[in-house]
Amino acid sequence: MEIILLLAHMEAGGTLARSAREALHVAADLHKSLTGSKLVVGLIGENVQTAADSIAAGPAMKYFGVTGKDFGQSRYATDAAAAEAICKAAQATLVVAPATLRWNRTLPGVAQRLGGRVDTHVTGVSSTPAQGVGVNRWYYRQRMEAGLQRAQRPWFLLIDPGSQPACECGAGKANVELVAVNLSDACRRTTVVGIREPAADAQTIRPDAQLLFVTGAGWTKKQADGRTHLPEAEKLIRDFLQLGRASLGSSKSLVDQSGEGQAVLSFLSHLNQVGQTGATPRHPKGLSSCCHGEEPHTVGWRFVGERRAINLDPNCGWARGKADVLYVADAFKVMAKVNELLAAKSR
Ligand SMILES: Cc1cc2nc3c(=O)[nH]c(=O)nc-3n(C[C@H](O)[C@H](O)[C@H](O)COP(=O)(O)OP(=O)(O)OC[C@H]3O[C@@H](n4cnc5c(N)ncnc54)[C@H](O)[C@@H]3O)c2cc1C
Repeated sequence: MEIILLLAHMEAGGTLARSAREALHVAADLHKSLTGSKLVVGLIGENVQTAADSIAAGPAMKYFGVTGKDFGQSRYATDAAAAEAICKAAQATLVVAPATLRWNRTLPGVAQRLGGRVDTHVTGVSSTPAQGVGVNRWYYRQRMEAGLQRAQRPWFLLIDPGSQPACECGAGKANVELVAVNLSDACRRTTVVGIREPAADAQTIRPDAQLLFVTGAGWTKKQADGRTHLPEAEKLIRDFLQLGRASLGSSKSLVDQSGEGQAVLSFLSHLNQVGQTGATPRHPKGLSSCCHGEEPHTVGWRFVGERRAINLDPNCGWARGKADVLYVADAFKVMAKVNELLAAKSR
């Protein structure tokens, strides 16, 4: 009999992230398709009751928790000890968890301790009576997809955020069984003194955003008047990100400019790059601006649902079947108008 454990850590305020609810959706589906299986939830954080209550009307039959100040922050030693203790208490055979930064670096080690196996970048889980549990996952920066089964247990499945619908199970009152963890002094050797991160409005990569807004090198090129308009470009893009809550992507040409000492958009880094040598983000919609749409770039758009582009050139790469809609227009004018409409709507 499979015991499916949904393993989640808390966000600030003791809540569950959307990625945890996506993993719960996978775990619940698996539970439904595996006759006789059990679904349990394991939560780790300073306090987990609010999170447990928020999904208490769901299909899980039991809730385990590891709580206390030591578990409020991301730290390998304490996270691994907590996850190991919950897996043992639940006697889990299948551990489903969101592929967050925190779990990606912890759960492979826990799988090793428990003599199990782990798969990361999982985007689909299924089960049939004939073949058992199978997963789909990606290799080589999401270029090759594989389907595989494993007999080894426990099997840890790290679900790629954005690849699943979120479980909408309702709230209730959960009875959380607390699991004790004996932390050695070595576990506390690393002290988290604080987190250095960009201010909320400087954070341009938003995996949960409905829209991916991609900027290309055209924003920094000479325009019809023979001059560049960098400050204006910066303002248009920033305003749009703020008003539309979009995630910011970029072509390689634009992010590379900073390395060459040219004038650049100050809030862009290589982390924003989309494409063959960049990221392959997942968003329901994408809007490209001042970017030519060359293959090494657009290959990074494969998981973007609806694609639109703004380019002055009617023969740009997007026009060759890579965008659903191409606006042959000046992106400076289009985005100024879009911002004006969004601002009016938000008033
Ligand atoms: C091995 C390899 C790997 C690569 N990996 C990547 C990758 O991961 N990601 C990536 O992005 N690239 C990658 N590239 C580079 C890629 O081939 C292109 O060179 C790059 O994507 C071009 O960037 P761009 O479209 O922003 O710039 P450009 O090609 O300079 O295009 C600028 C566009 O802006 C338009 N434009 C200018 N002004 C306006 C305006 N006012 N309104 C509307 N449109 C305007 C122009 O018409 C033009 O089409 C790779 C290349 C190689 C060889």
